[in-house]
Amino acid sequence: MAKKASVRDVRRRNRALILRHVWLNGPTSRSEVGAATGLSAATVTNVMNELLAEGTVREEGFLDSDGGRRRAIVSVAHDAALVIGADVGETQIGVDVLDLGLNRLAGRVYPFKGRRIEVGEARTAIADQVTSMLAELGVDAARVVGLGLGVPGIVEEDRQVVHAEVVGWHGVDFSGFGDHLGIPAYIDNGAKSTTQAEAWFGAARDTDHAVMVLIGEGAGAGIITDGRLYRGSSSSAGEWGHTKISLDGPHCRCGRAGCVETFVGASAVLSQWRGPDETWLGRETEGVDAVLTAWRDGDPAAQRAIDGLVRHLGLALSNLVNLYNPEKIIVGGWFGDRIAAELLGDLQAAVRAFALDQPGGEVVLVRSQLGPEAAVLGAATLPISQLIESGAGVERLTTA
Ligand SMILES: [Zn+2]
Repeated sequence: MAKKASVRDVRRRNRALILRHVWLNGPTSRSEVGAATGLSAATVTNVMNELLAEGTVREEGFLDSDGGRRRAIVSVAHDAALVIGADVGETQIGVDVLDLGLNRLAGRVYPFKGRRIEVGEARTAIADQVTSMLAELGVDAARVVGLGLGVPGIVEEDRQVVHAEVVGWHGVDFSGFGDHLGIPAYIDNGAKSTTQAEAWFGAARDTDHAVMVLIGEGAGAGIITDGRLYRGSSSSAGEWGHTKISLDGPHCRCGRAGCVETFVGASAVLSQWRGPDETWLGRETEGVDAVLTAWRDGDPAAQRAIDGLVRHLGLALSNLVNLYNPEKIIVGGWFGDRIAAELLGDLQAAVRAFALDQPGGEVVLVRSQLGPEAAVLGAATLPISQLIESGAGVERLTTA
């Protein structure tokens, strides 16, 4: 029995290695897969034949190699199944239906006010959007390999219990989510899933050591170390927005004070500019555009606010640099994207000034490549990741 299980484990591992390579680097050839995975030609051929037979990958033509032998080019069969990505953000839930190449086939946005949404409302909104989009596309739920859900909080290791204080969710049990849709669901922290999207397709694609920071109203981070997302003992690693940079700083949504996001979040910067009495609730993007315009025009209050942002954000990022020694820091999120577009050089200088010389001198700050799409794409990587790591084929997952 033990031997049988172990053979099965090896087979699953080999399938996972090969699928992962084809998914992230395809179209590719069998020999490239062999070179990248270190597996023997016979193993690659066996596994590839299985994947071809079950329709998970397909041949896409041939390349002539130097020796005159023709090499078949293989890639994941993007239209073999569908995947759903849903992300609960600060002001809206985005839900997309995508193919296995993460090309978007349909997308919906469900806005909510006051940065709070009841769990029941969120569940219903996602389910309704999924049902209506699948109906519109004329697709049966059985063709969907999974639904990935990104949430703005901590998701416990079993991926079912969510602690998202910022939207008012305290220990919410998501087990069974997706059951009535007939679609398996996978849940993770939105910053982590977004970071996974940048690692697969975006700015962190070519590095094994990167930190992605997402800045909007709040702030979060995803840490990639040795090519893998760093999770910590119960998956809460990366709650950088609630690390403290002041003992007596402003009050934070988490109930404490002096957190990074109380200095670098959009509203924090707006209240530095126009004072705490002016409310920007529901108009944050408009406000951010206005403060940046005023800053460019030389308005002294705007310059003080932006200067404060650069110094505090530089300080907070330098702590990540000293702790994790990343090659790259990717700056994203809706506010982070605007910061990166205008202030990346200033920010890089501030990080260098605060961090230790060696890691500070090596790290490069870059703007997110995937932009606002990254959150929903990231959520969609959750079921695909599961499909890859389990070594399952498309057919087995969809008919399971
Ligand atoms: Zn906090």
